[in-house]
Amino acid sequence: MKIKNKNKEYEENKKFQNNSIKKFFNDEKGNFSIIITSLILIGFLILSIIILNSAISQENENNEIVSSNSYQYVLDDYIRNLPLIQHEALEELSEELIENKRPCLDSKRDLKEIIDGKLNEKNQEYYDNYHIQINSSLIAIENTSNPFSYKFKTHIFSVKGDYSFERIVSSDVDCIGLKDPVPILYLKDYHGLSYNESSYNYGNSLSEFLRANGVENHSFYIDANSPLIIRKCPYDPYKHHGDDNGKLMKNCRDNGYYHESRDGACYLCRLEGKSGCEHYGFETFINPQKTIETGRVSACGSDHVIFSDDIYPGVEVIYNDEDGLKEILYLDPHGHKVKYGMSGF
Ligand SMILES: [Zn+2]
Ligand SMILES: [Zn+2]
Repeated sequence: MKIKNKNKEYEENKKFQNNSIKKFFNDEKGNFSIIITSLILIGFLILSIIILNSAISQENENNEIVSSNSYQYVLDDYIRNLPLIQHEALEELSEELIENKRPCLDSKRDLKEIIDGKLNEKNQEYYDNYHIQINSSLIAIENTSNPFSYKFKTHIFSVKGDYSFERIVSSDVDCIGLKDPVPILYLKDYHGLSYNESSYNYGNSLSEFLRANGVENHSFYIDANSPLIIRKCPYDPYKHHGDDNGKLMKNCRDNGYYHESRDGACYLCRLEGKSGCEHYGFETFINPQKTIETGRVSACGSDHVIFSDDIYPGVEVIYNDEDGLKEILYLDPHGHKVKYGMSGF
């Protein structure tokens, strides 16, 4: 009986122990769940923060790309405008000096002044429209191997926030379509010179000028004409001007074309009233009136010869004849006649 009781006691103890273990395990299970849940929550929170952070930084990065792209876009647009501004300045200067009949003392300096003024206006416009600070100025104008085209170099410096930009930009500016000021600057003191939208008509002015310079047959240039607008002759090589019985030369003179020439002045020097300069330049011809006479000699009709201190003679070259009314040029036999393929005329 005692043993039985003892056993019972033992059983009960065991039961109690089992219960305690069970309880203990149940408690552990609860804590464990809490810990796991907490860990998951913390993990989720960390993950959320990471995702959120990366999303924010991604957006910042995108904003940076957008703003750096648009900054570059605005600057590209600014640079695209430079040759237009510079061509406009070249045109303004030529118009102004033709109107005042007064040459520039230094065409590059005058152009810099006009262009820097225009750049300042442009920079203000860009600041107002895009809040971009741009400082710029013309630093050089250079002749090129093409006398109808010039290199304008502009220094540009710009800052916006974290971005900055500094560069010397080179742009090609041509003088095609602009007015040639040489005749009006040379003949401003002579009466009779006029011009329409495409050409100069000399009246008595050129003849008087040639007389004052000791040219014998100066009167052959009464009522002569020459181009006003710079246009590049397409008949290159020039020795083809005599082709087709002189038809190419007739077409060249009817259109008032200009030709590359080592002796003729470049456009920048023409603005200074020079007909010749040390740069590679261009020349055109002065067309005397149509005539029925033949075998005449007068001043060589290339503009850098006519408007110079060293006028030399040219022989008559008939490039078109309609019922005895001849279109002629006076050209030196070994120079311009050869250059333009008119030796047989
Ligand atoms: Zn030509
Ligand atoms: Zn020059």
